[in-house]
Formats: sequence, C-alpha cells, structure tokens
Amino acid sequence: MLPAPTVRLEHRFARELGELAVPWKAATAPDPRLLVLNEPLAVELGLDAAWLRSAQGLRFLVGNEVPDDAAPVAQAYAGHQFGNFVPRLGDGRALLLGEVVPADGRPRDLHLKGSGRTPFARGGDGLAAVGPMLREHIVSEAMHALRIPTTRSLAVVATGRTVRRESDLPGAVLARVASSHLRVGSFQYARATGDLPLLRRLADHAIARHHPQAATAAVPPLALFEAVVAAQARLVAQWMLVGFVHGVMNTDNTTISGETIDYGPCAFLDAFDPGTVFSSIDEGGRYAYGNQPAVAQWNLARLAEALLPLIADDEEQAVALAVAALETFAPQYTAAWLAGMRAKLGLADQVADEIVAGLSQEVLALLSSSRVDHTSFFRGLGRAARGDAEPVRSLVLDLAAVDDWLGRWRALDPDGGAADRTNPAYIPRNHLVEEALAAAVDGDLGPLGGLLEAVSAPFDERPGLERYAEPSPDHGAYRTFCGT
Ligand code: AMP
Ligand code: MG
Repeated sequence: MLPAPTVRLEHRFARELGELAVPWKAATAPDPRLLVLNEPLAVELGLDAAWLRSAQGLRFLVGNEVPDDAAPVAQAYAGHQFGNFVPRLGDGRALLLGEVVPADGRPRDLHLKGSGRTPFARGGDGLAAVGPMLREHIVSEAMHALRIPTTRSLAVVATGRTVRRESDLPGAVLARVASSHLRVGSFQYARATGDLPLLRRLADHAIARHHPQAATAAVPPLALFEAVVAAQARLVAQWMLVGFVHGVMNTDNTTISGETIDYGPCAFLDAFDPGTVFSSIDEGGRYAYGNQPAVAQWNLARLAEALLPLIADDEEQAVALAVAALETFAPQYTAAWLAGMRAKLGLADQVADEIVAGLSQEVLALLSSSRVDHTSFFRGLGRAARGDAEPVRSLVLDLAAVDDWLGRWRALDPDGGAADRTNPAYIPRNHLVEEALAAAVDGDLGPLGGLLEAVSAPFDERPGLERYAEPSPDHGAYRTFCGT
C-alpha cells in the first residue's frame, strides 16, 4: 500500500514468541499533526525524514497506514507494580509495529504508545496525552545525549482526539524506538504460564538479540541473567551519577537490554537529596532517588526467579547459582559508580579508589546538608579545577566545609576539561520541562525546541543558553504525575 520510500519491518518477536504477541491495530487518529520529529534518529534508522513529515508518513507514525505485510502486536508481560505481582499487564495502549533493521544490522523495535485500547487495556482508555508523550521525548533524548542507554523517541504526533484525564487534554502518539521491549515482566509472564518451552524460547530470543555471548556459555540462561545484572548495574549507576529519578521502577519497566524505558513520572534532581521522590503516586518513597540501586537488584531477583527452571533442574542448585550471580550486582554497581565519580571529579586513574570514594561521599554529604543543586555543583568543578572556585562556592552555605573539600580535591590535580566532558551543563530541568510542555499544549512549540536544543548537546556550554543551566527558582519543590 505504501509507495516509495517504504519502511521494511521484520516481525521476529511476533513470529518467535506468538504466545506473547496479540495481533492488533491502532485506533484511527482523526487529525494527525506532527509535534516533533527526531531527524538524526530517522537517519540512523534509514527512514526518510521528509516522508515521515508527509501526510502518509504521519499516518504511518500513528499506526494508521502500515506496510501491507506489517503485523502489529500488543505484547504480553506481567510485572511487580510497587512490589505487588500483577500476572497480566501487557501493552494496554501500545503496539509493536515491528523491527527495523538499519544499515548497522542491529534490529530496533518500532513501537507506538497511545495508539488505542488493546486486549490488555483493563480499565484504561488506551490513549496518551500530548504533555506526557513530549516529556518522554525530551527526557529520553536528554538521556541519550548524556550517553545513558535508553529507548528513543522518533516522533510525537498529536492525534486530534481529546483524552479525558482530570481535564480534557489533547491526545498524542509517541513512536518509540528500542533495542527491544523485553522486560523482566516478559519473563515473569512466560514463567507464570508454566510453559517452559516458551520460557526457553524467550531466553533464546533475548540472548540472540542482546547478549549473544551468553549463547556459548555452559548454562546460557544463567549467562543471560549475569549479563542483565551487569547491564542494569551499569545503567542505574549512570542514573545516579546524573541525578535521574525514574519514578516507577516496576519490573515491567526494567529492560533486559539495560536501556532506560517508560518515562512516566521521571525527573532530575534539583537540590541533592537521596530521599527525593517526584512521583505523586509513590507515597511510600519506594522509588526514591537513593533507593534505585536496591530496587534494581530487587527487580533482578524477580528475573532470577522467573529463570530458575532454565538454570538447573535441581531447584536448590538453580537458586544457589542465581544468588551468586545476583550478588555480583553490588560490586558491579559500585565499580561503575566509582568510575563515574572519578570522571565527574576529573581525577586521574592514578588516584586510589579509596581516595575517590572518600571525596565522593564527603562531597555528596555536603551537597545533601546544604541542599545544593546537583547539576550546577558538578558542572562548576571544571572551572574550579582551572582556578575559579566561585561558581561552586557560591552554591554552598558551609563555606569552611566546601573550602576544606576543594583544597584536598585540588591537591590531586583534577582535570577541568575531563570534568566538563562528564558533568552536563544542561539537563531537562523540571521547571523548563513544565514550561515547554505547557506551551506545546497551547500550540507554541518554541520552548520545546529551545529545550531540546540545549539538552541534545549537554556538555557543550553555549552562549545564549544560560537560562537552561540555571537551577529551578523554587529550588526543587516538584511533583510529577504518573504520565498516563
Ligand atoms: P506504565 O505505568 O506506563 O508502565 O503502565 C503500566 C500498565 O498500564 C501497562 O500495562 C500499560 O499498558 C497500562 N496502561 C497505562 N496507561 C494506560 C491507558 N491509558 N490505557 C490502557 N492501558 C494503560
Ligand atoms: Mg510500563
């Protein structure tokens, strides 16, 4: 049906894992209008950006006009939500259109969010609003630019349909690109069916797609688990280093690839405080900033449970192997975090780990007690290393403490340039995200464009972009609402 240029989609997930894939079609969008297109990503995928902007391209991006041989599916998965197991979640408002295989040979899922009710919708309307979809676009692009593994946003298209929430909102579909949408919850679902051949096929699919070295290990499912532990340990360390709070780290929002997924009530720290919770629904603070490493490990334990029957026939032996693998999470997390802190502090490899660890703990305690803006402080270290400590000193109330710390840090001869390449000047600050979303909902895409420009090159400080580097005027009294 599509004239050139056509989009070639593969359907490996749907073909190999039919039990986890319900064929489905997107709801009709009455009046699709492009809000934002990620041209660099389109190029990376080998898609024609000019065509994506056309009326037909927009119908493709909302799932209303797909290639004749396309086989969109809603994916089944389970998950622990705030600690409670839900055996059947799945794509309630999303569809996997298929896999694009660009020139680099690595398949990417092309997936729609907000594309209408599916058999997994339960009470939901299957829709998404412009604001939350643009939030996902902004934050996921910022994460990518910060070199943190993440799903990407190819485009956000307004549907022309109204979405009922507390008030009536404009609807949108996000076209999401991921190395896959396999989640811990996918394995929990397969395990809960009791169908071991399905569980094994899912593990094989995940190994082939994400962790191919596991295929030749003595026990491939155990090696898969070890690879996911390693990927998640690195991922969460990177979140912590930039002050990212995911907000809803349920097991269905934890990927097998190690990519950040499902940007809902996520936000970046303003003032540094390990107890920070932005999400209005996280009343107990389960997913607070400082809890994220422990929660990731908890989620990985749920993955281990799902994989046990594939790890060894003898359950006790399987548990022992899984526990040993899980126990590597903490040292891998700590190593990744410490390497990241070394880079943030601009310290050379010769400086001993214990010194880096000690300075890191001290400076974070200082930031915490003075409620210092996390991003501004670390960004200021580059200049401090070059001899101008005023930008960081001016952020801290306890001058004696910060001067003492700076003196000991400077004695280690930190490299300011290296610190600048690691500590972003621009992150999607909460007040700027809100400003951009509110304007976009009112039809003004200017602030969105400005913010995207800043956060797309976060380490590269540019004149004219000063306001994107400034801390929030209200000093971080911020709430996000679960972006549905
Ligand atoms: P999330 O909190 O976005 O990770 O979603 C958790 C579960 O709720 C997933 O199964 C989603 O597909 C489903 N869900 C979220 N919002 C909606 C909605 N508006 N309509 C249908 N399903 C939804
Ligand atoms: Mg989710």
